[in-house]
Amino acid sequence: MEDKIELLRGKIGDVDCDNKVVVRGRCPYCNDRATFRQIKYGFERSKITGQTVPLQCEGCSSIVAFSLTQTKFYPAPMLKGLEGLPEEIDKYYQEGIRCISADAPNGAVTAFRKVIHAIGIHYGIAKVNDNKQTLYKIIQELCDHEHIVKKLKDALIGVKDIGNDGAHINENEPDIEQALKIKHLIDTVLNSTILCDSNLEFVKGKHSKKD
Ligand SMILES: [Zn+2]
Repeated sequence: MEDKIELLRGKIGDVDCDNKVVVRGRCPYCNDRATFRQIKYGFERSKITGQTVPLQCEGCSSIVAFSLTQTKFYPAPMLKGLEGLPEEIDKYYQEGIRCISADAPNGAVTAFRKVIHAIGIHYGIAKVNDNKQTLYKIIQELCDHEHIVKKLKDALIGVKDIGNDGAHINENEPDIEQALKIKHLIDTVLNSTILCDSNLEFVKGKHSKKD
């Protein structure tokens, strides 16, 4: 996984590692994959984070706490999501992303389920407070109107079902792995619909200027 933390030296926290680059991972502040320099030797001990060493991001110079016990940054890096979505879709999408970063899979899948509804509203297929129209119908109509291909329709139905499981107490409650899979599916759908539309408009705009 691209957000994996790599330890570049042994004995991190030791005096030998002082002022050396010791870790590579996603920075919680600049959100880039960066290297981190140990800025002080010795550990801090915390009940929550265990043995912790202060590191500095070589990209943005922010100081992060690195838990050696858990191989984890504090604060935790935000998951990177898609950019350029319209506001009415982005608010649910970003909520899903924040839930994954906060290790809240039930919240994440519920928010991603709302993303599907918001895509339906965007294309004039669904309305706000649309109780009559089930999510299944919205997905079916997205396919009928050729916004999505059948494969994506099937994928979205998977998202809808897991989203249901996230909203009620049951045996199939989603874990963070499933929430991440759903995020990838939602990304695929958004890339091939909403973001594809704006790319198309951009290309058409360029073309008409040439004529
Ligand atoms: Zn940084």
